[in-house]
Amino acid sequence: MEPICPIDANCSDQISLLLNPPSPVQVQKYYEEVIANRQSCGLEVRTNGEYGKGVYANMDFKKGDLVLKDPMLFGIQHSSNKMDCLVCSHCFQFIGSLELQIGRKLYFQNLADSSKSRCEKGESSSSLQDCSDQYHLSHDDSDVEDDDVEQRGSSNSKCDSISLPKDFIDLLMNGGLKLPDSNVVPLPSVVSCPGGCKEAYYCSQLCAKADWDSYHSLLCTGKGSKALSTEALSQFIQHANETNDIFLLAAKVISFTILRYRKLKEAYVEENEKYDTPNNLRRCNFSLLLEAWEPMSVGYKRRWWDCISLPDDVDCCDEASFRLQIKELAFTSLELLKAAIFDKDCEPLFALDIYGHIIGMFELNNLNLVVESPVENYFLYIDELPHSEKEKAEKVTQPFLDALGDGYSNCCEGTAFFPLQSCMNHSCNPNAKAFKREQDKDGQAILIALRSVRQGEEITISYIDEDLPFEERQLLLADYGFRCRCPKCLDQELSS
Ligand SMILES: [Zn+2]
Ligand SMILES: [Zn+2]
Ligand SMILES: [Zn+2]
Repeated sequence: MEPICPIDANCSDQISLLLNPPSPVQVQKYYEEVIANRQSCGLEVRTNGEYGKGVYANMDFKKGDLVLKDPMLFGIQHSSNKMDCLVCSHCFQFIGSLELQIGRKLYFQNLADSSKSRCEKGESSSSLQDCSDQYHLSHDDSDVEDDDVEQRGSSNSKCDSISLPKDFIDLLMNGGLKLPDSNVVPLPSVVSCPGGCKEAYYCSQLCAKADWDSYHSLLCTGKGSKALSTEALSQFIQHANETNDIFLLAAKVISFTILRYRKLKEAYVEENEKYDTPNNLRRCNFSLLLEAWEPMSVGYKRRWWDCISLPDDVDCCDEASFRLQIKELAFTSLELLKAAIFDKDCEPLFALDIYGHIIGMFELNNLNLVVESPVENYFLYIDELPHSEKEKAEKVTQPFLDALGDGYSNCCEGTAFFPLQSCMNHSCNPNAKAFKREQDKDGQAILIALRSVRQGEEITISYIDEDLPFEERQLLLADYGFRCRCPKCLDQELSS
């Protein structure tokens, strides 16, 4: 049955004002501010009729130049990635220590593997011998059971990792064991959430405070949380983790807007206390909400259940029921979120129509958040050591590398919304691309010029693999809602 959200009907006028696209002048002004806050940004956003917005070079760039460093407005680490990588919940750089990263990963890997089928015993015993010799641990101490030294394999019975005994993993995690030269990948120490939850960790007090003030104080499940009910919040988070973690990103948007609204309101009340009647205050509430919503208003949006592309395994004739299911799923998630953080002043934000548009905006503009793993860099470093040093180091490191298996190099992965990068139009022959340099260790989007770009030229990126054949490219781009007419496509269309 079609879900009915009462707020959609109660607040219909306010909802349409929130969803009303801002005027080109407002858009221009918003992006000028965004660009002014980026250091040395040689770009401008222009609005034009046909494609909406575009980003243009305000100066010449040479091939390889940094075109843009774009901090995210909203971002999440994928739920499934949280066991692989411990990152700052605000800037997404890796935190703790190399040992903690490896120890955590092995700990979760062991948990996950314990139910999987096992392979025969392999060489793991000898590697373990090396390992315990190195740390002068007696076998009595480590209490190695047969179970623990068995090689573990995936369900197709192909061995891809070897497990280490729990004691080594504990030692790694609690700092009792140092790996050789691990200081070549220094990581900031872990700062806990000020609200006391066990879900958010940070690289610094600065990130902890910024995250708390902008999003997390309402989304924290700890004792210090500002949510109405941390129990409801936990249910919301669990539902998102089990269904689609895009709901966590949408919750961040709503929480961000509420917190921004409260700050604007506070400032307004302070300023106007002497002159304003309570009625005037009520009337201004919605204009403050509109102001708080501004960063969202400029993003191109459609309802999630209308714009989501049909999965391959869904038959065309089941399309309507698929879209209805998506809508129902969103409604379930929204109801849980409402029970957790509802705010009467910001009621329109809890309309299903708004929730659908927020998620739809991510569906259409979402960009991958990727941060390279220091664990990979560490093992590369060891591999490149001169022969004798390498041999010595590997005696210690190899068992860990074996235990980590193929996933040793897994990056931090998530979804984020970058305000400027999301304005960049697609070309199958782009002049810029997202590229993390060695010094880029957090979640910001980094764009590099692929060739020289003249002042006034539009900056373009490719949304897809631009080397695919023409028809395949058009098929993929149809998911973004357009047919590409870049020079390369026009050329190939003519010649076919
Ligand atoms: Zn941080
Ligand atoms: Zn917290
Ligand atoms: Zn094209």
